[in-house]
Amino acid sequence: MTTVLIANRGEIALRILRATKRLGLRSVCVFSDADRGAPYLALADQAICIGPAPAAKSYLNIPALLQAAQITGATMIHPGYGFLAERADFAQAVAEAGLILVGPPADVMRMMGDKVLAKRAMLAAGVPCVPGPSSVLPDDPEQIAQLADDIGYPVILKAAGGGGGRGMRIVRTPADLPEAFMLTRQEAQRFFGNPDIYMEKFLQRPRHVEIQVIADHFGNALWLGERDCSMQRRHQKVIEEAPAPHIDRDLIAAIGARCAKACQDIGYTGAGTFEFLYEDGAFYFIEMNTRIQVEHPVTELITGLDIVALQIDVARGLPLPVQQSDLVSAGHAIECRINAEDPATFAPSPGQITYLHLPGGPGIRVDTHLVSGAEVPAHYDSMIAKVIAHGATRDEALARLRAALGEMQVQGVATNLPLQRALLSETDFAAGGVSIHHLEHWLSTRE
Ligand code: ADP
Repeated sequence: MTTVLIANRGEIALRILRATKRLGLRSVCVFSDADRGAPYLALADQAICIGPAPAAKSYLNIPALLQAAQITGATMIHPGYGFLAERADFAQAVAEAGLILVGPPADVMRMMGDKVLAKRAMLAAGVPCVPGPSSVLPDDPEQIAQLADDIGYPVILKAAGGGGGRGMRIVRTPADLPEAFMLTRQEAQRFFGNPDIYMEKFLQRPRHVEIQVIADHFGNALWLGERDCSMQRRHQKVIEEAPAPHIDRDLIAAIGARCAKACQDIGYTGAGTFEFLYEDGAFYFIEMNTRIQVEHPVTELITGLDIVALQIDVARGLPLPVQQSDLVSAGHAIECRINAEDPATFAPSPGQITYLHLPGGPGIRVDTHLVSGAEVPAHYDSMIAKVIAHGATRDEALARLRAALGEMQVQGVATNLPLQRALLSETDFAAGGVSIHHLEHWLSTRE
């Protein structure tokens, strides 16, 4: 029987575990010392410790994970999101160990992890990108100034190897360019070990709209609709929804089809997401995520698909069971990320959950690994749960989500529930279609 090693923790580890059960596969969960005793571990067929609490010594420890796979007889590894999910060196090590990674081939992951190469590949596939050259910036200040003039201010400098919202700098005037260039180059080197930077037009009021794709090893590639993830703080998504409100369906279908074709062009397999900025009726590619995303449930609710199970199936060599023309999109879904953090200062709030009450009822899904008494370790991401509502319309989904967050109770750690409740009743969000700056602007005017 095929055994899947789940190389992650928390809610996504449980989500993957559920998919393995549904597929009738054997599961192995790994855990660090900090997660020893986490309730979801008991649901796996086997659980194995891979090291001490710091992620570098456990969830990012490639030799320990490969050894865990070997000891437990696992032949597949699902990396989830975060940690090693987009590390091409990990994908390569997994392949070299004769194991199957649930994800794209290492070389495709490497290419999409370099934003300049990714942009070039997308332009070649006919996917529209943010205006600006798909090449690394030269060193010559005059040439750089000329490029910025050609694009038109404001421009944004971005690290080719960047991620997590770091290694980016907006430049509004020619006078600011030389220093911005120097600082961004230093950051790129320091954070990502790659000094390459590139430049593009800085869009002033875009929305974040992304396309979910999945591709198998037989040349089939599907796009599963879009998600609007414009509600962000410090480039971190806070609320996500599908479909994206108030955007022409034909335009989205055209972009979706381009993304599916781009998967075929670059030899992409597995689940992935093409991230776009959307402004004034046009889409501009910014980057591709080569993994399952936190916000995948909103797409699952409107399509009725189990994306994680599909991911595992295509990784083990099965063809996609559906075609583009079979896909339906029913109703509207909205997700709130629940974080263990102070709702005013956003400082992480680890500790023991002394009491937990989860909401339910028609159209409500909660993805969490937590139960009363569980620990939220200080070592990892503060996201502890996702509450997702589905309704026939956006208004119905919103009403269900409001009721659900009203029911939900978490004691023992602080959470952003009060903030999420306030956001769901905020007028502009309720109307739909806010820009990526909306949440921060709203926070700044609330005091
Ligand atoms: P990361 O990999 O660090 O997440 P992205 O390229 O996805 O970097 O960009 C992160 C965020 O930065 C975007 O969601 C958007 O808010 C902002 N951003 C990136 N490029 C641009 C641009 N050209 N114009 C305006 N905002 C941008």
